[in-house]
Amino acid sequence: MTQTFQLPDFNALADDEFRHLVRDFLQANFPDELRDLPKRLHWNEVKGWYMTLSAHGWLAPGWPREFGGMGLSAAKQLIYTEEFENYGVARTPDHGIMLLGPLLIRYGSPEQQQHFLPRILSGEHIWCQGYSEPNAGSDLASLRTEAVLDGEEWVVNGQKIWTTLATDADWIFLLVRTDKSAKKQEGISFLLVPTNSPGVTVRPILNLDLHDELCEVFFDDVRVPKANLVGEMNAGWTMAKALLGFERIFLGSPKQSANALTRLEVLGEHLGLSQDPGFRDRLTRLRLDLDDHKLLFETFAERLRRGESLGADVSLLKVHQTELFQRITDYMLEISGEYAALLDPIEGNGNLNPTGLFLQARPATIYGGSSEIQRNILAKMVLGLPG
Ligand SMILES: Cc1cc2nc3c(=O)[nH]c(=O)nc-3n(C[C@H](O)[C@H](O)[C@H](O)COP(=O)(O)OP(=O)(O)OC[C@H]3O[C@@H](n4cnc5c(N)ncnc54)[C@H](O)[C@@H]3O)c2cc1C
Repeated sequence: MTQTFQLPDFNALADDEFRHLVRDFLQANFPDELRDLPKRLHWNEVKGWYMTLSAHGWLAPGWPREFGGMGLSAAKQLIYTEEFENYGVARTPDHGIMLLGPLLIRYGSPEQQQHFLPRILSGEHIWCQGYSEPNAGSDLASLRTEAVLDGEEWVVNGQKIWTTLATDADWIFLLVRTDKSAKKQEGISFLLVPTNSPGVTVRPILNLDLHDELCEVFFDDVRVPKANLVGEMNAGWTMAKALLGFERIFLGSPKQSANALTRLEVLGEHLGLSQDPGFRDRLTRLRLDLDDHKLLFETFAERLRRGESLGADVSLLKVHQTELFQRITDYMLEISGEYAALLDPIEGNGNLNPTGLFLQARPATIYGGSSEIQRNILAKMVLGLPG
């Protein structure tokens, strides 16, 4: 059974009151040594914080309360996220919370909800996302990893790539091909696989700053129970798209850019540029762009608050946010002079890490669907231009 918490009705609080509550919570509970780290942390580094959030019922802001979440409205979620980012809170392995949880809540069977959701909240199951494959990234529907039913089990063969933090995960949610003869979008299913199954091999890949958060995952005759399929067989594409929708709202939140802009101000001060007219001009332009983005995000949040679902136009958020994040970090590097050549923070100060943030901003326009693909979606689905 899912554990529910005696939490106050956060949505009934005034925004400012809620903001202070979040800030106080972070001050009281967030470990200082994890503040402002410019890389994804591994489970062993961030487990304590995950368990603190879990113990307070603060782990899943967007999940309904009956499933153990905080049940926050979209607007309150925005405040929650902003405060976490402003405080420099390290991101936990959150594929279970941000992606799989909402998917199971919408499409999972009651048995799947009862089995998996509490284990995400308790930290017993850490999840990773098995979507991309070599030759099936932007063109995700071309994926070739297959699952064939053999009695009461699926037999999985194939390869996934760019799987974030797969070395830490106990489980991977997979898109698999279950009908090779159907139109490519129609032969895909959504499957849950334990990463310790015989035949699963996980290999880390080092990224630009020599961090091993990305992985390749291989499946060689991996057997999983039939009941691990979510939704109907061959109906995985609809779920895959719903999950990408959750991801785009999440990636479109102003948090990365807001956090980077704060760091830009701190960096400018440290470099003695605070009163420099050129610096002030660029900073102000970026700040106005961020204000625009916050307004844009609020418009989408407001639609969610009214219970409307978002359409293809959510791509706009992802493009605008990630490209703004890059513009801010580009400028940080531009003013950093010789410091720009350092991977480590300037003088060991975590607030001053222009290169780290610059490198973090590079893949933001790729993961969750690249800017080019989002622009194609906007052109076709929103503007009705020919494809
Ligand atoms: C840091 C990071 C973490 C990631 N984590 C995960 C994860 O946990 N799980 C997971 O499944 N995946 C993950 N990914 C993979 C990510 O989703 C893919 O990288 C992304 O979908 C792009 O696919 P691709 O890399 O195969 O590029 P490709 O599809 O090969 O595209 C290469 C370039 O061509 C452009 N392009 C391709 N097709 C078109 C077109 N039709 N029109 C115009 N331009 C086009 C693209 O925009 C891109 O610029 C991660 C990626 C990164 C960088």
